[in-house]
Formats: sequence, C-alpha cells, structure tokens
Amino acid sequence: MGLKLFNTLSRSIQDFTPSRQGRIGMYCCGPTVYDFAHIGNWRTFVFGDLVRRHLEFKGHAVAHVMNVTDVEDKIIKRVRETKTSLREFTGKYEAAFFEDLKTLNCLEPHHKPRATEHIPEIISLIEKLVARRVAYQAADGSVYFSIEKYQAAGCHYGQLVKLNPDELRPGERVKSDEYAKESVADFALWKARAPEDGDVFWPSPWGEGRPGWHIECSAMSMKILGPGFDLHLGGEDLIFPHHEDEIAQSEGATGRPFVKYWLHGAHLLVEGRKMSKSLGNFFTLRDLLAKGFTGREIRYLLLTAHYRETFNFTLEGLQGARTALARIDECLGKLCEIGSLGVPPSGGSPVTPPEGGTPNLLAAFTAALNDDLNISAAWGAVFDWVRETNRQLADNFLNPAQARAALAAWNKIDSVLGIGTSPEIESPPEIVVLLEARQAARKAKDFKRADAIRDELKAKGWAIEDTPKGPKLKKL
Ligand code: AMP
Ligand code: ZN
Repeated sequence: MGLKLFNTLSRSIQDFTPSRQGRIGMYCCGPTVYDFAHIGNWRTFVFGDLVRRHLEFKGHAVAHVMNVTDVEDKIIKRVRETKTSLREFTGKYEAAFFEDLKTLNCLEPHHKPRATEHIPEIISLIEKLVARRVAYQAADGSVYFSIEKYQAAGCHYGQLVKLNPDELRPGERVKSDEYAKESVADFALWKARAPEDGDVFWPSPWGEGRPGWHIECSAMSMKILGPGFDLHLGGEDLIFPHHEDEIAQSEGATGRPFVKYWLHGAHLLVEGRKMSKSLGNFFTLRDLLAKGFTGREIRYLLLTAHYRETFNFTLEGLQGARTALARIDECLGKLCEIGSLGVPPSGGSPVTPPEGGTPNLLAAFTAALNDDLNISAAWGAVFDWVRETNRQLADNFLNPAQARAALAAWNKIDSVLGIGTSPEIESPPEIVVLLEARQAARKAKDFKRADAIRDELKAKGWAIEDTPKGPKLKKL
C-alpha cells in the first residue's frame, strides 16, 4: 500500500512516489550547535527519524543527511561572548547533540556534513548564482541573492509560502539569517567580514567573510544528494525564510526542481506556552533525564502526536508515557516468558490463535503510518494488539511458537517506533526470535545453521539450555 504525505509545496496530501530507483535522498536540517538542543528541537528530529524508519520498514533504501550548522549569526555571537574558538565552542554542543540523538534511539544519519567543512562548495554555488546574474556583490562587500532578477528569469519566489507581490521591495536587502515574511528582501549569501566576527572568516572571490545560513544547506544537500532529491524536512519555523531561500538558491543555480516533497513538523509547546528560559518551561533533553525520565519515555511521548499538530509537552504527559510503556512491557515480558520455553518437544498440537492478534497488528499499523504518518491510529493498533494478546495470555491460548510469532511482529513494528523493550524484560524479543530461527533450523536438520545461530546468540550474551520442556534462554 502506498504512502501518502502532506507536501508543504502543494499544501496537500500526495502519494509519495520516489523520483528514481535506488536510494531516497532525505535531508533534515540539523542542529545549530550553539547550545544543548531543547525538547522542541527533539520533537522535530524524532519526527525525521520516524519518516526514515517508516521508509525503511516499507523496503526503501534511504540516504539520510543531517547537516550541522556550525557557523551562523547566533554561533558567532556566543563565540565572541565566551572568548573561545569556533571549533572548540561548536564541538562541545555537536558532541552533546549526537549523544542525545542516541539517547532518544534515533538512527544515526548516514551523512553529517558540517558547514565549515563545505566552504569551497558554498563559494562555488555562490559563483554560479553570480554567473547567472541572480546574485550580486553590494557596496558593503557582501553578496546578496536578487529576488527581482530571479523572478525576471521566470523563477518563482514564494513556493512554500504565499507572498504578497506588493510586499516585495526590489533592491532592499536583509543581512541577518532570520527575518519575517514582512521583511522579505534580497538575502545574504556571503557576509563580508565584520570586526565582531573575530577569527571567523574565510577568503573568497568577494573578499574575506563567511557564508549566510541558507546557502549552507543548499550547498551541502546538493553535494551529497545531487541537484534534485525527494525529501527535505524541518520544523515549521524553517519554512520561511530558510527553506524558501534554499529553493531559490538551488533552483537559481541549477535551473531544475530542487526537492519533490517538503515535510514540516509543527512546534512543541511546554505547558501550553512557547518555551522560554524566563518562564521556567525550557527543557533540554538533559534536564528531563536529570528529573529521572528515560530517553525511551521521552521518545514515546514525542511520538504520540501527529507531526502536523502542535504538541503540548507536560511533565504529567511523561508520567503517562511511563504508564503506557509499562503496559506494553508487561505484555512483551509475558510473551518472552512463554516464547523462551521453546517449541514443545513433540506432538504438542499448536493452538490456533483466535481471530485478531498479530496479522492485524502489522496491517493496521502499516495502513495508519501510510496515511500521512497517522501515529495516533498506529498506537491504537498497538494497544488493541496488547489488549488482545493479554486476553489470549490470560486464557492460556498462546503456545511458545505463537508467542514468538507475536514477538517477531512486535519487532517489525518496533523497527519504526524505536522504543525497544524495557531493560527489565528477561529476554528481549530479538533474542527470542533468534531462538525461534534456531529451532526451525534444527527441525529442518540444518545443524550448521542451528549452530551458527547458537553462536550468534552467544555473541549477543545469551546461552541456550536444552531442557525436557524445550530450549530455554539464559543470560551469560
Ligand atoms: P535549530 O537548532 O534552532 O536550527 O533547530 C533545529 C530544529 O528544531 C529545526 O528543524 C527547527 O525547526 C526545530 N524547532 C525549533 N523550535 C522548535 C519547537 N519549539 N518545536 C518543534 N521544533 C522546533
Ligand atoms: Zn537547513
């Protein structure tokens, strides 16, 4: 069944059809490394992780790029204030970011380009824009993108947002990286060196200076994924000007469509309000870990709301996440217990599970996520399955093979959810599934394979004990 996604470019839900065979190019605007990422940022990154995992679950190969913005206005200001070097300053927050990413069990992006390591690509992209006469050097030494010339060349500025043509003021310029729709104007591609930039500058054909924020993403995404690719993601605040400007720069340089599907995650509020340090509702991931919550609980909570709905984060919600996970864990724990008893030695006729259960879980879960990542319906399928499985467990309906089949189904959907299992569960589902494979190999008299699986289990820290009741898993 096909995947449908809301494309900001068309402002509608569309069928997702990759533009070519092979890997799907997916670019997620990454962190600006000037501080620890906050829980709002994490909502967006977990959303990106969900998109990637679902594509992979559907059998696509994905090339996932997440850039590291390690030079822009805010960073330079902090470098100046803290009297450190750029690399020393950004290195600390970059390392923290990737640690946090792991804590939340997000898959590591395949490419993590740093802006400061792509200055030649950025310069050559600006040169192309200058050669095509849609960029110019102004008297202040900086290079700007000309919206007027871009439009005169038949291109469209305002693909992601509706802009009022009367508000376009030809020739006016904006130098800062962030500005509102009301102040749309020619934006900076290369910023001439200023005294307050300190040591942060590079040589260029237009003199010493540094890149603007928007050009960094155009240069890095096209270098790694090519001039046109399928998916570009970020939080909704990036739609304008960042993503609009990325389109203008990329299409202005190549003359061809840049990205096919633009996906934007809605913002996260804390206790109903925009996060701010003065309101005391500003949480980094580390603040929440210090309060005793786990990455798993936080990931679960961030994954409960649809990505296009504003999400209200509360500490109470995190308590709720703990309770919900405990329900899942209890069910998985029981399945593991039964599953690790192994297949009955002989003659035990398998009990056919009643209607519902595992096949429904996979079908309902897939259908829900295919529907523009309808995560509420996906969790609905999970909890229906938990309820049904608990009923079957209570009625002694499940034999070991069926318990393992149920765990295998759970593992499949968990490859998308990424919440894993509680560390307290004795044998994790993937271990039980290996045991099942070993039993199947033995039954087929493929002892070589059975031994290989036994070794694999050993390498993962598990031993198999053959008991009169069947094989049992034991932690080494
Ligand atoms: P930054 O590090 O500021 O460049 O932001 C990283 C990502 O977090 C971007 O995709 C932003 O759109 C996103 N973001 C920033 N604030 C929030 C928020 N309150 N809720 C959700 N996403 C956010
Ligand atoms: Zn970006």
